[in-house]
Amino acid sequence: MGTTFHALQENASLLKQKASRHSVVGAGIAMIAIVIATIMSGYFITGEVSLAAIITAQKNNVVLWVLDSMPFIFAFWGQYVSSIMSFEASSMILDQTNDLRAYTKDIEVKAAHEATHDALTDLPNRVLFIDRLQQATFLSQQKVPVFGILLLDIDRFKEVNDTLGHFNGDRLIKQVALRLSGALMEGDTLARIGGDEFGFILSRLKSRSDVENFCTTIHKSLSTPFVLDNLTLDVQVSIGAAIFPDHGKDADTLVQRADVAMYIAKHDKMGFAVYSPEFDSHNPRRLTLMGELRNAITNDELVLHYHPKVFSDSKILCSVEALVRWNHPSHGFLLPDEFVPLAERTGLINDLTLWILKEALRQCAVWHQKNYAFGIAVNISSVCLSDPGFPDIVTGLLASNNFPAESLIMEITETSIMVDPSRSLDILNRLHNMGVNFSIDDFGTGYSSLAYLKKLPVSELKIDKSFVTDLQKSRDNAAIVNAIIQLAHNLGLKVVAEGVEDKKTFDHLKILACDIQQGFWIGEPFDAEAFEKWLDHWEAGTITGPPNYSNG
Ligand code: C2E
Ligand code: CA
Ligand code: CA
Repeated sequence: MGTTFHALQENASLLKQKASRHSVVGAGIAMIAIVIATIMSGYFITGEVSLAAIITAQKNNVVLWVLDSMPFIFAFWGQYVSSIMSFEASSMILDQTNDLRAYTKDIEVKAAHEATHDALTDLPNRVLFIDRLQQATFLSQQKVPVFGILLLDIDRFKEVNDTLGHFNGDRLIKQVALRLSGALMEGDTLARIGGDEFGFILSRLKSRSDVENFCTTIHKSLSTPFVLDNLTLDVQVSIGAAIFPDHGKDADTLVQRADVAMYIAKHDKMGFAVYSPEFDSHNPRRLTLMGELRNAITNDELVLHYHPKVFSDSKILCSVEALVRWNHPSHGFLLPDEFVPLAERTGLINDLTLWILKEALRQCAVWHQKNYAFGIAVNISSVCLSDPGFPDIVTGLLASNNFPAESLIMEITETSIMVDPSRSLDILNRLHNMGVNFSIDDFGTGYSSLAYLKKLPVSELKIDKSFVTDLQKSRDNAAIVNAIIQLAHNLGLKVVAEGVEDKKTFDHLKILACDIQQGFWIGEPFDAEAFEKWLDHWEAGTITGPPNYSNG
């Protein structure tokens, strides 16, 4: 405040000096006017221009006396007005500066809120949930109070989305969020951590029965049917709980154990389950894997396989899709379905995606140096699509590998965008403006709004393999595939078919004008070395059936 007042005084004195200068000029002009008027008046009275004539004029002409006072009036009035004006001007500037500061602060607060909150329900998002959980474990280690975490998943929510559409799905999520918020106690956290998944942190627990009572309260709060227009919907949820410190002393372990409990609750249709070590026998792998994945990333246990996509007409390689695998020291070779969904639950997916992107770009840059000109496709999870820092990370990776953004394709699913559409759209647009291309993966399995699809900066639709593999046998699938291709072409998009397992399917898709194809008939996902061998044979035209260049 002191410095502001000082600045105000300085500004005022500067402006005052400026205004004073004008009043001095005014006074000067008045003086000159007096001199001229006096000389002229002296001349009219005495008929000469002399000092005596000037003195006579000043003595006898009353009008000149009025004129004589002018410089003083000017000087006084000028000083007075300049002081007032300069202070008014400074206060105006100060007010406007304060307005601007308040406005900037508002924007900062809004941006921070958006980065940590879910746009649909305005609840904390996964990022904030994990952050609060980490803080709670840290604080609790010092003071040792007990707290609980709950993961809640809506049963069969996909059916609601598929039959009533995403719009109604979103409306239902909002209503559920409101009821859950109502059950919340002061100081506790409720977050939306996935499409139909919520997380609670219950900060003050006296005993395990508190958690059970809370779960019962939640079930009660959801027991009254939900109303969407004229429809009445019964919503059931499964809740898994874990308690600090009994079931875990860090955020990862707690989430993982609450997740196992939720899995049991859902599987056994119990409504809720509090973690118990005997649950591990149901799913020991799931439990331990999550803890080990963090180390796997740093210990180089992960490896990328590359799955070719070729043009239908020329059979030229267009790009390769990077698919992650885990060479687990005791479980052997693990496919992504076993660990990617787990990583998505904890936030570890960010580190995993970063590793995959880095490795895929490094490897593809090596191929580019060998004069292969194909692109690289990487699967991107919904968590990354709601992280405002993600485009900056990608910029850094592209620059450090000297890799053209135009050769990077990000495969995203319809559902991953629908978790937080407005934020995802913003992030997609930023990446698209950098030159990155987007492909909608597993197209046909979600509920796609065509109007929405048009808004997305995508260049490719990837028809899900469930329609492609049965193309020959199922007329319905052939009709669906045909319709998707027409639709995509009308929207100016390229079409990729995945899951092409035989030549007949390849030829059929070519007739349907499908642009690009991918599948075991063309090539399996290979490691980098096997991929290069495959490519040599493929380009030489020596591959005529399911290739045997794979190494696993
Ligand atoms: P996706 O992106 O739809 O990947 C295609 C999956 O279908 C791959 O399985 C691939 O091996 C398999 N596939 C390809 N062609 C054929 C075919 O002709 N017939 C049959 N039956 N299957 C075929 P994979 O590698 O097990 O990947 C499974 C899913 O895991 C992927 O589905 C993707 O959603 C996820 N995933 C894989 N790699 C990554 C990754 O790097 N990051 C993320 N976030 N997810 C990944
Ligand atoms: Ca994919
Ligand atoms: Ca797919």
